[in-house]
Order: sequence, then structure tokens, then C-alpha cells
Amino acid sequence: MKRSRIDNFIMEQEGLSRLTRAEIEAVQLNKLNRILASEKARDGYYRNLPEQLDSLKELETLPFTTDEDLAHHAGGLLLTSQSQIQRVLSDATSGTTGAAKRVFYTEGDCEHTVDLFMAGLGELIFPGSVTMICFPFSGQYGLGELIAEAVLRLGATPLRLGVGLSYGELKAAMEREQPDTYVGMPVQLLSMLRVCGCGSLKRALVSGDGCPEVVLKACETILGTRLFPHYGSREMALGGAITCPAHEGMHLRENHVIAEIIDKAGRVLPHGEWGELVITTIGMEAMPLIRYRTGDYTRILPTACPCGSEVLRLDTVRRLETGELLQLDDLLFRQNYVADYRAERREGRLYLTVLTVGTPGADLAIPDGAETEQRPVTMEDRPLYMGKRKIDER
Ligand SMILES: [Zn+2]
Repeated sequence: MKRSRIDNFIMEQEGLSRLTRAEIEAVQLNKLNRILASEKARDGYYRNLPEQLDSLKELETLPFTTDEDLAHHAGGLLLTSQSQIQRVLSDATSGTTGAAKRVFYTEGDCEHTVDLFMAGLGELIFPGSVTMICFPFSGQYGLGELIAEAVLRLGATPLRLGVGLSYGELKAAMEREQPDTYVGMPVQLLSMLRVCGCGSLKRALVSGDGCPEVVLKACETILGTRLFPHYGSREMALGGAITCPAHEGMHLRENHVIAEIIDKAGRVLPHGEWGELVITTIGMEAMPLIRYRTGDYTRILPTACPCGSEVLRLDTVRRLETGELLQLDDLLFRQNYVADYRAERREGRLYLTVLTVGTPGADLAIPDGAETEQRPVTMEDRPLYMGKRKIDER
């Protein structure tokens, strides 16, 4: 089996001729210590942390960085001058103050992300192939454009479809352009496949939201190939971890990100145990973060990858708070005629809007106590979520 492309990605960037755990960890400790020293020297946000660590294990003793910190101290966390910033991603946090969390990137950060996307996409696309990109296109350094750039550099053709197209528009684009590869969110992919069929599509990379097992399996059955899940977040400049030919977890860009898994009390868990992912972004030029609590739930796989790479792998990732949504996914998407659904809670009661392929009527299994409106999907409909899915509270 071919080794994950993450190995070459890291070796090229770090000037290494081989990559074992010892090399990876030496790179990590070195970069971490450079950040700590520079924070002390510039009297930066992390100035009160030790100037140097003797081992990566000592990272466990440092305090966490939270969404609240990103909302209130984003300027102080910034290492470069504002003029070097190419992109700011900002949104309202779920934190208590409701202030906007801001994350900054330089051109170098975006360039590293394109390299990582090339490593991840290089596993499934080839020169001449056509890739439909169903992520937002929001300007030069937006997610859609960074993916399109990686596709172009691999010698393939990007189809910039974005988000929010109707099923009819998606189907027309697929018939016209004959894409063989899809890059987009997992539930939106399943929904499109169930309504439009797979057409010329053969492979898919999914990211941007959790990929429930039932959705993964259903997509793989329709496509007849394994999916390539990717994990990224704004705090790691959108690209984080990629699937290799073994399809057993996602290799992390460990020369840029140190991963830890913690329990509810904040204690670091051994590999193999599930908990919250904490990241230290040692490779980000604009805004390196130390022990940032992601709010994502996953584990680090404890065994060696069959591809031979020693780069750590994350298992499937979901938001900490989406356990109930997963149960709904499991019940609803198990049924082949469910095209999509949206969940909302009003005064404690669960309301579901379900789009179906055909009219299953009373055959549709729904959760106990939920009020459900179901109707057959039309080609004028759009997938019911444009971004990350959650149960809306009213
Ligand atoms: Zn692997």
C-alpha cells in the first residue's frame, strides 16, 4: 500500500529525508519552543508561559486557550503586522459574551493549506479529472478558492459550484461537466446522491462537518468507492488531517499541529480514548495557538497505520454537543428515501422537516415524540443546511 502523502508533505516542508516519531516530535518541540521564546521576547499574549520546555510532555502543564480568548484577545495573539494578514475569519461564538471569534492568516499560512489540500486530494484526483467543489467561494483566500487552487496544481479541473444550489442546478452541472470527484460536506453529498444519482461521480472527499457512520456507508454504497474524510478548522487554517489509502483515520499535519485529547476535567487522555481535541498550532505564521480547546470530539488512533506512516491519525470527528443529532441521523438516513431533514426544538419539543425521495407515507420511521412534516423533494429544493448542521433552538 502507498504511504500517506502526508509524509512527503512534512518531509519537504521540514527538509527531512525520513520521518519517524522521533523526527516528528523533534520538529514539534523545536517549533513550540521558538513560539514560547518569541512570546516572551515580544511580551505577547503567551508571555507568562515558560520560555522553553524540555519535552512535549510538559505541554500538558500549560493552560488552555478558549473561544473566549479568541474573541477578546485576537489582536494580542497576532504575531505579524496587520498588513501581512490576507484573511480574517470571524463569527459569533457560542460563548457567554457572544463576541466574535477572529482567526487571522498570512499568505504563507494559506500556501501551507493549499499544500496540505494537494496531499489530501492527491489520493483521489489525478491530472485531467474534474472536481466539483461544494464549499463557499468567499474571495481569494476563502475555502473554496484554496481547494480550487490545489485541484489546479494537481493538473485537474475545479468546478466552482459553491453552496446553496438546488438539486436541479447540481444535476444540470453534473450532466454538463461530468465531474468524477466531489469535494464538499458529507450530508449534503448523500442528499445530492439520493436525489440526483451519482452520474459520472466516482470518488469524494468530505469535510466541513462531522461525517456520521451511517452517512459515510450510504455514500460509499452509492458511489461504489470509499470516501476520503478530511478534518480541518479555522484555527488550523482550514486544513488539518487527511485520509490515506488505508482509510483508517486521518493523518494530522503534525509539523503544524500538536494534538492532545482531554477528558471533561481537562486531563490528557492516552491514545485510543475519546475526548475533546486540543490543538497547539506551531506552524501558523499569523496566529499560533497554545492548547486551544476545539470543542471537537474524537480520539487519536492507538495502532500503527497499515500505510506505514508514523504520523498520528484522528478517528472520526464531531462537535461535542451533537450527540442527539447523531442519533437522528442514524435513524433517518438509514432509510434510503430520506433525502434530507432539518431539526428544530421549540419549547422543548422536537420538530423535523423531512424531504423524501418519493412518498414513503406512514413507512417513514421517525423518533418518538417528534412532530414531523414530510414531503417529497423536488428539483427546486436545496439541501436543508448550507453549513455545519445542528438542532436549531427556538
Ligand atoms: Zn495511513
